[in-house]
Amino acid sequence: MPKAQETVLEINLKALQQNFEHLKSKLLPNTKFLAVVKAFAYGSEACKIGNFLQDLGVDYFAVAYISEGIALRKSGVSLPILVLHPQKVNFKSLIEHELEPSLYNRKIIKEFIDLTTKEKITDFPIHIKFNTGLNRLGFSKSDVGFILEQVKNTKTVKVASVLSHLAASEDLNEKSFTLNQIETFKQIADSLTADLDYNPMRHICNTSGILNYPEAHFNMVRSGIGLYGFGNSEKENQFLTPVSTLKTVISQIHHIEKGESVGYNRGYISEGILKTATLPIGHADGIGRQYGNGVGFVTINGKRAHIIGNVCMDMIMVNITNIDCKEGDEVIVFGTNPSAETLAANANTISYELITSISQRVKRSYIK
Ligand SMILES: *Cc1c(COP(=O)(O)O)cnc(C)c1O
Repeated sequence: MPKAQETVLEINLKALQQNFEHLKSKLLPNTKFLAVVKAFAYGSEACKIGNFLQDLGVDYFAVAYISEGIALRKSGVSLPILVLHPQKVNFKSLIEHELEPSLYNRKIIKEFIDLTTKEKITDFPIHIKFNTGLNRLGFSKSDVGFILEQVKNTKTVKVASVLSHLAASEDLNEKSFTLNQIETFKQIADSLTADLDYNPMRHICNTSGILNYPEAHFNMVRSGIGLYGFGNSEKENQFLTPVSTLKTVISQIHHIEKGESVGYNRGYISEGILKTATLPIGHADGIGRQYGNGVGFVTINGKRAHIIGNVCMDMIMVNITNIDCKEGDEVIVFGTNPSAETLAANANTISYELITSISQRVKRSYIK
């Protein structure tokens, strides 16, 4: 790889392929694989990644919002796309782009069927989402009768799948809670399908569900973070490779005397002689202020350089007092080592937040 000459997020498509193959190897041959590409494919780049995964043979995609699904369609994705959190205001464009809504309460299912009826559509695929313990989105068990009434009363929609979402699939201390969610899901799905003359797919597992609950794969699994290289445990991380590496460069080096300050609000006051490097990456690029004042670090020529003072909008200053480096040298923010998970843990957050925060201003480049 040529050395970075500006801030860039390098995306390793080979690693993406290997992660996909590893996750796929955990499934029975007939279990479908849904790739979650919401939030710009967790900060990498949804359209490029979507088309790459489509060619690799995933079965389904999911996004959070309708606008994300439209972007995928416009880039050439033709596989089914599940929209996890649609809103009525965009239903017309959802239908127009053949996106499939996850419907989660009485209000939204009625609104959707009203529209499909008005538009005289037949068999539009819908997905019924149940709440089994996360208490975020989803119908409850007591809604089954209502749902059946709605869908059996119309030819405009067809239930393509029944789904739920696990609250703590990565936490083995919560195993009994998770097993209870899975059991509740089974019962609900059984009671819904008992009264339908066709059999919708069932799915409940996210990445950690795939890895920890093979008995709950049902007809399809939904993987996001695993595809991007994080297994939510040291054991699983061994088999996955982070797909993206965030790189930047040294713009300027400063020699700081004892008593001088560095950065806004004099966030750091030097206790001795110090060498700092200024880097063209800041909170507007996704390195939040919580990484400032020594919490976050970057790697320069193999050595850790901690952030000094406050994170600025477009820059950070790092401590390079004991590092042999010069202006123009490449800087690694995260990648395979240290991973985004390690850096995020320093700021008491998780890989998901750090990687999805890398803003659209940062250039993306791809390695095959
Ligand atoms: C984001 C999301 C996923 C993907 O979860 P990962 O832990 O990233 O694999 C799956 N299902 C739903 C409903 C989600 O919101």
